[in-house]
Amino acid sequence: MIKQEHIKQLCVVPGKKFHLKDFDTGWAQIEEFKQYDKEALKDHANSLLEQNLLDLTSEQQLLYADDRYSLLIIFQAMDAAGKDGTIKHVMSGVNPQGCQVFSFKRPSDEEINHNFLWRYMKCLPERGRIGIFNRSYYEDVLVVKVHPELLKNLPDSKKNTVFWEDRYEDINTFEHHLVRNGTVVLKFFLNVSKEEQKKRFMERLLRPEKNWKFSASDLSERERWSDYMHAYEEAIRATNTEWAPWYIVPADNKWVTRALVADIITSTLRRLELKLPKLSETQLKILEEARKILENE
Ligand code: AMP
Ligand code: MG
Repeated sequence: MIKQEHIKQLCVVPGKKFHLKDFDTGWAQIEEFKQYDKEALKDHANSLLEQNLLDLTSEQQLLYADDRYSLLIIFQAMDAAGKDGTIKHVMSGVNPQGCQVFSFKRPSDEEINHNFLWRYMKCLPERGRIGIFNRSYYEDVLVVKVHPELLKNLPDSKKNTVFWEDRYEDINTFEHHLVRNGTVVLKFFLNVSKEEQKKRFMERLLRPEKNWKFSASDLSERERWSDYMHAYEEAIRATNTEWAPWYIVPADNKWVTRALVADIITSTLRRLELKLPKLSETQLKILEEARKILENE
């Protein structure tokens, strides 16, 4: 487990001006990682990940048995920041019956014809389960803000500041509603640098087994990098609430990202103090009788 005070260095301080440039994309953001060189850090991060995956398995079982909470985990990032890989690794310790992953692409016509939160509401995890959003309603204040032409058929055609502030407010209220009803909301921004993204795109272009991951729009979106960073800063600043905080996770080293995300998920579940349900006197009596019947068979 990474010390809580060190994990806090990944959090956005409410009320303090938030700038992404203040968050390191390597590993300097985490105090206890600074002492390692790259190779030693890889070993340390991998053993942290392994331990956390074991803990996550038992916490998930408790989440299911306890049946009071659900966990919604949101991943947002630029292309090639490692969302898919992080989800694959972190969830390798989880029982698939209690977990569902949803990847959100460009909305369909049916989805566009509903309120912007509609398609996400339908995918929320039920009590006892973990739900993972690979991209989320945050796209509606990120890619859509960078490309306002994506907004169609809305009564208010003005895409001004108030329009986006209203969307942030909708998101905050929606998340507050979820939290009040027992859904814990964790939001991760995987913070990759522009240089590292270039390296990963080059890999996708040069290695045939990775070619399929490259999409035609990747370069045109990369050209809008500073617009995206601006949209992320504004969205994170406006939606970093006490009930659903953001974690800015360094993403230039995959093993660092995976270890940190697993640690935050596991420690969040642990803080819920999940318990096996306590049986009533009547239920205990039923078990006792069933035991006797089986013994006497
Ligand atoms: P990927 O995650 O790489 O498969 O890409 C999915 C694409 O869908 C990304 O380019 C997203 O920006 C896009 N996308 C996801 N949600 C929305 C949305 N609400 N509106 C428009 N585009 C979206
Ligand atoms: Mg992509």
